[in-house]
Amino acid sequence: MCQSSSVSINPTGANRLDVLVVGSANLDLVAHLDHLPTPGETQLAIGYEEHPGGKGLNQAVACARMGAKTAFAGCVGNDDAGVMLRGVLEAEGVDTQLLRTVDAPTGRAFINVDRHGENEIVVVSGANALVEAPPLPPAAVVLLQLEIPLDTVEAVLRGARAAGTLTVLNPAPAAQLSDELLAMVDVLLPNETESAALGGSAVLLARGVTTVVTTLGERGAVIESTSGRITIDPFVVTAIDTVGAGDAFTAALCSQLARGRTIEEAARMGAVAGALATTAKGAVPSLPTWEQVGRALEEHRG
Ligand code: ADP
Repeated sequence: MCQSSSVSINPTGANRLDVLVVGSANLDLVAHLDHLPTPGETQLAIGYEEHPGGKGLNQAVACARMGAKTAFAGCVGNDDAGVMLRGVLEAEGVDTQLLRTVDAPTGRAFINVDRHGENEIVVVSGANALVEAPPLPPAAVVLLQLEIPLDTVEAVLRGARAAGTLTVLNPAPAAQLSDELLAMVDVLLPNETESAALGGSAVLLARGVTTVVTTLGERGAVIESTSGRITIDPFVVTAIDTVGAGDAFTAALCSQLARGRTIEEAARMGAVAGALATTAKGAVPSLPTWEQVGRALEEHRG
């Protein structure tokens, strides 16, 4: 069996954060179209929505909804979108002292969705390209993704390692990662596609990651470490939209690790939160609260 003790955290401190998220914040601009435009085509959209997004922001909001004391470190521009995203984080109770306003446009994702649900996405990194490693406040867990510069990810991991903080990396979007970077990751949390792009869990463990938790969509998840493998059954729901499932899983796992739960207990909560996120549309709107997770578990037992 997997040794749960391979993942351990700092002792609790009065001002200690549960989770510090260092990552991206975007405004998602979603156009609903009859068909995806061909080169040179101009098309009138049949619908339009704007949402807060970016994996960093989504996961910070998801952690706060899990009841974790959460801070978000990142960058937004000096524009209306930046003000909106800061407001979203603050309304969710996320500490934004480490969210900098910089001289670049707020990150944006232009998303075209056709009538079959097929999409194409253009991401303008904008302010996210200027995210630097912040001074690290005391935190149980530091959570990162790959929508900010890789140098920053590496510097944050190094700082967290020096401080004895547990490091969790959601390698999305998948990128080439050095052995040096991987060796500073306590828990790597890819989905199946990202895991394959990184060479698979066996390769990742051999390259120095302590624990790999691979999410498998409706099939649940699997925890792998050098000492073994634990399968995490899915929490069965009627899924209507899987957007946000990975973010909810990640946040529940990190929040539970911050509370001293084992990786197996944390991943089981991740599976419940991930499943609940598929029962509502969108990313941020579908992220469940800790109360919803508790209620779902009770109904399941009952
Ligand atoms: P991502 O959104 O990053 O691609 P996944 O699709 O693997 O991630 O989903 C993350 C987690 O959410 C899964 O490990 C699983 O626990 C849960 N989940 C996702 N889709 C479903 C589903 N249809 N039914 C139940 N649980 C799901």
